[in-house]
Amino acid sequence: MDVLARERCRIFIFFLVWEVDGVMGDRPPCSERFDSHLDPEYRFCPVCGCTLHTEVLKPSEPERPVCGRCKFILYLDPKVVVGTIGQIAGRIVLLKRGIEPSYGRWVFPGGYVDRGETVEEAAIREAKEEVNLDVEIDRLLRVYSYRGERVIVIAYAVNVVGGKLRAGDEAIEVRTFSPEEIPWNELAFRSTGDALRDYVRDYLNESAASPG
Ligand SMILES: [Zn+2]
Repeated sequence: MDVLARERCRIFIFFLVWEVDGVMGDRPPCSERFDSHLDPEYRFCPVCGCTLHTEVLKPSEPERPVCGRCKFILYLDPKVVVGTIGQIAGRIVLLKRGIEPSYGRWVFPGGYVDRGETVEEAAIREAKEEVNLDVEIDRLLRVYSYRGERVIVIAYAVNVVGGKLRAGDEAIEVRTFSPEEIPWNELAFRSTGDALRDYVRDYLNESAASPG
C-alpha cells in the first residue's frame, strides 16, 4: 500500500512539474515595461493579457503597440463611420446627440460600420436606428478624413422613401432644417460641417440645376 501511494504521489508531482513547465517554460514572463504615452484604451495584449509597449518596427511607419511576451502587434486602424444626409419636404434631417462625444450638438444620422457589413448597408441601417427613416442612397457625397483623427467619415446624399421621423435612443431630438436654418455653430463634428457645406453647395445646387 505504501509503495503504491508513493508511486501515485510521484506520478502526480511529475505531471504537475511538466504542466507548470509547459505553461511557463516556453515563453518569457509578462514584462512590466509600460509606455505612459501609449493610448490608455490599449494597455494590454488582447492575445495573452500582458502589458503592451510601443516599438518602431519599420523606420517609415509610426511606432506600434507590441506585446513583449507573445510579440502580437496591435495595428491601430481607423474607425469607419457612415452618415446620411437627406430631406423631408425640402428640409434637411438632423438629430441632436444624446451621447458623448458632442452631447447636445447637431449631426446628420450616422454611425460605425460593423465588420462584414457594406458601407451602404450600414448607412441605411443607421438612418433607421437613429431617426426611424427608410432611405435609399442617391450618391456618395465625399469621404472625410483628418490628420490625427481616428475616424473616417463617409457621407451619402440619400432619398427618404419611408418611415416616420422619430428620435432613436441615442438622440435627444430630431428635426428638419432649411439650408438657411442649419445650426452651423452647434454642429457635432468637423466632418458634420464639412459634409453639410458640401451637400448644400454641391448636391442641392446640382439637384436644382437638373430637376428630376
Ligand atoms: Zn501577448
